[in-house]
Amino acid sequence: MTQTLLRWPALLCASLTLALAGCAAPRAPTSLRIDDSIRAVSQDSRVRYIVLHYTSANNEVSLRLLSQGNVSSHYLITDTPRPQVYRLVDESRTAWHAGESRWFKQVSVNPVSIGIELVNQGRTDLPQGQATWEPYSENQIQALILLLKDLIARHGVKPENIVGHSDIAPQRKTDPGPLFPWKRLAQAGIGRWYDEARAATYWVSLQQQGVPDIAWFQRQLELLGYACPQTGKLDRETKNVLAAFQMHYRPHDYQGKPDAETAAIMMALLEPRN
Ligand SMILES: [Zn+2]
Repeated sequence: MTQTLLRWPALLCASLTLALAGCAAPRAPTSLRIDDSIRAVSQDSRVRYIVLHYTSANNEVSLRLLSQGNVSSHYLITDTPRPQVYRLVDESRTAWHAGESRWFKQVSVNPVSIGIELVNQGRTDLPQGQATWEPYSENQIQALILLLKDLIARHGVKPENIVGHSDIAPQRKTDPGPLFPWKRLAQAGIGRWYDEARAATYWVSLQQQGVPDIAWFQRQLELLGYACPQTGKLDRETKNVLAAFQMHYRPHDYQGKPDAETAAIMMALLEPRN
C-alpha cells in the first residue's frame, strides 16, 4: 500500500512532462510502409544469361504446359502467322526452364537467366534412325530478335551468355536444334559468333597439320563455356558436348566428331579480338 501511494506522484509527473513537451510516445506501426524514393547506385540486373528453347508442342499445349505445369519460361513466342509474345513469369522472378545446367562457372542457370520458349515441334524421329527438324518461321524469328534486343539492352547480357538449352545441358537437351538460326541472330548483332574468314584460314592450316587430339577439344569446349569432361577420350559425354557445339556453330554436321572444321571454328571463337 505504501509503495502504490509513492508511485502515483512519479507517474503523474512523467505524464505532465510529456504533455508539456508535446511529444506523445510513437505508436507501433500497423501497416508496412516502405520509402523507395532513394535508390542505391550500386546495383545491377539479376539476369546474366538468356536461354532459348523449343517447346516440342503446338501453341495451345505449350501455353498450357508452361503456365499450368511444373515447368515455365519468362517468354513464349507462338508460331502463328503473326506471333504472339507472352510473358508468363515476371523478369524479376525465377522461371523453371533450364533444369540441371552449367555455363562457364555458373551451375544451375535458372536463378540468373531469362528463358524464352519458341513454339516449334523440334525433332521428329523417322524409321531407320533418321530425323527431321521443324524450321522456324521468319516472323517468329523476327519477333524473337525484337525481344532479345530489348532484353539485352535492359539487362546488359553479354553475347557469349545468349545460349541454347543444349549449350548449358548438352547431356540431356537438343533444343533449340540445328535449324535455329544462330548466324542470322549474330548478323542482327545478337550472341557470340566467329570471324568466318579467320576460321577458313585455320581450317586450311589444320588440314596440313592434322586435327588436334581429344584433350585439346575438351579444353577448348570448357574455355568456350561448355561443361565438358576432361578425360582425353572421345567418350559419349564428350561427343554430346561436341554435338551441342556443332548444332550452334556448325549446324550442317552435328555428329559430335572432332574434325578440322570444328577445331578451326573453336580457334576463331577463342581468338582475342581488338
Ligand atoms: Zn529447353
